[in-house]
Amino acid sequence: MKRCVRCGLPETFPNIRFDDEGICNFCRAYRGKEKLEQAKEKFRNKFEKLLAEKKRTGGYDCLMAYSGGKDSSYTLKVLKEQYGLRTLALTMDNGFISPRTMENIRNVVENLGIDYILYKPRFDILKKLFGTAKDSDIYPPKTLERASTICTTCMGLVKFITLRLAIESGIPFIVYGWSPGQAPIEASIFKNNPSMIKSMQSVLLEPMRRIVGDDILNYFLTEEHFESPERFPYNVSPLAFLEYDEEKILEEIKALGWVKPEDTDPNSTNCLLNSFGIQVHRKRFRFHPYAFELANLVREGYMDRDEAIERLEAEDNEEIIRIVKRKLGIE
Ligand SMILES: [Zn+2]
Repeated sequence: MKRCVRCGLPETFPNIRFDDEGICNFCRAYRGKEKLEQAKEKFRNKFEKLLAEKKRTGGYDCLMAYSGGKDSSYTLKVLKEQYGLRTLALTMDNGFISPRTMENIRNVVENLGIDYILYKPRFDILKKLFGTAKDSDIYPPKTLERASTICTTCMGLVKFITLRLAIESGIPFIVYGWSPGQAPIEASIFKNNPSMIKSMQSVLLEPMRRIVGDDILNYFLTEEHFESPERFPYNVSPLAFLEYDEEKILEEIKALGWVKPEDTDPNSTNCLLNSFGIQVHRKRFRFHPYAFELANLVREGYMDRDEAIERLEAEDNEEIIRIVKRKLGIE
């Protein structure tokens, strides 16, 4: 398979073009390390300024969408220790959290001293959603460049469940542990606004509603939520503008009792379903759903091209995939 000589993005990626030197259009459009560092500083300052304005005297300062993976565990530590924020962490249990991850979550929240909610949507609903999402294109094609349809379904629920809770509780920030490859710096801090959220919601909610009916409404915003625009929080992805060093991250969270699960694929440190989502996506579209994220990390100097390619070409873990399929009632 032909890949960009710089970032490793494959020829099967949508709208990719290579020049005579074998460098892709995404690398050609990249503005370089210096510009990135300037932007990071700008967003760091913006975050600190917002914190000074919005920090509360009572109640939580932020709601962390906590997957239990390495990046979000580390982000939780930064929120608590570097910024001193009163944080509520929430994990959505999609039915496929690795047992080791559940232990990691307990260790991290206990050791950091953080309030925590495990939110488990009805599994019969999730099963129908994942089972349908695996091989039908229910969302706009653009979403397929960044994630498998299964992953988009799961993350869509996480986004709206956390947003709903933040609005109801008046929490001013929702924090995500996206890596710099997942969250572009320009999108690392933004204020949710009702009209944007309304259109995002319909893109996700309408297809899900066709699959499972009105029971899906409990996980999304209602008219009542949209009537309080002043309660809409900011979304923040701190790892996009802070230092990001995978080795250092692993070392710091190890001290909190976090241990790398052995049963997840190399791109996830928390979710078993991910392996299946990746397999289906690769078969259908001939590129890995993490290709774009890893190419970004390579381009920005966070990862070697060889390591990215190794992760992208890793064999599927058939044993895990069998377990996932059985639980979803497939085959
Ligand atoms: Zn490239």
